[in-house]
Amino acid sequence: MPELPEVEVTRRRLERELAGKRFTQIVLRVAKLRLPVPVALAEILPGLTLRAIIRRGKYLLFDCGSGWLLIHLGMTGYLRLFSRPTPPEKHDHIDFIFDDGHLLRFHDPRKFGIVSWFAGDPQQQPLLAGIGPEPLTEAFNSGYLFDAARGRKVAIKQLIMNSAVVAGVGNIYANEALFRAGIRPDRASGTLTVSECSVLATVIRDVLEESIGDGSTCRIAEETVTYHPLDLKVYGRGGEACSGCGKQLDEIRLGNRSTVFCRSCQK
Ligand SMILES: [Zn+2]
Repeated sequence: MPELPEVEVTRRRLERELAGKRFTQIVLRVAKLRLPVPVALAEILPGLTLRAIIRRGKYLLFDCGSGWLLIHLGMTGYLRLFSRPTPPEKHDHIDFIFDDGHLLRFHDPRKFGIVSWFAGDPQQQPLLAGIGPEPLTEAFNSGYLFDAARGRKVAIKQLIMNSAVVAGVGNIYANEALFRAGIRPDRASGTLTVSECSVLATVIRDVLEESIGDGSTCRIAEETVTYHPLDLKVYGRGGEACSGCGKQLDEIRLGNRSTVFCRSCQK
């Protein structure tokens, strides 16, 4: 599943390539993804200039002046960018063609993504309104996290994966951040101290920023692909030796998500 770093790398790359360009044609090969795809896109977008692309959580918002093209990659979606016409393949659902010949293509085998359109303030959009602060901004800090955790029995890993608490921290990065912070993922959120919340807020940001990097390791010539430049210490490593102490990493399910941690290094 694309997580925040991949979406941010995609955003930066697409904005660099496409900002200032005009949509000329939209080709819709699908009526519905997670939500219906507005047929009107094919009439609304041609002629509009893409001004910028912003990200809110894992949503990409294409600022088209009179409204916003909203894209969420869901479980299996990705965007590919071609510099010339290219025949569609299976699961290539939507093409956005620009005045310089660039073709932006939405591909999604499981169709859990979202492609939609809205006008007006993004903060008022039902899909976006309940999203918590961005983890890479000042709004997400130790005081905020401590307040959000106080009195909560829910496991800290589930708390930081709740997009109403903080935007876009997915399973991979939650596992890695908790390992780096030395905090057990199944701890009740309310038991975290101020200093633990401070460490956790910092490492969440570090893990995400390291994974975003400068985007240079992303293959940008033809496609944007799922991309994890971060050196993963625990995610996907259940049963392997802990890089910190050498003991075997445990794997449990929390909120039905794979959770890997070290009983010795994480308290
Ligand atoms: Zn360990």
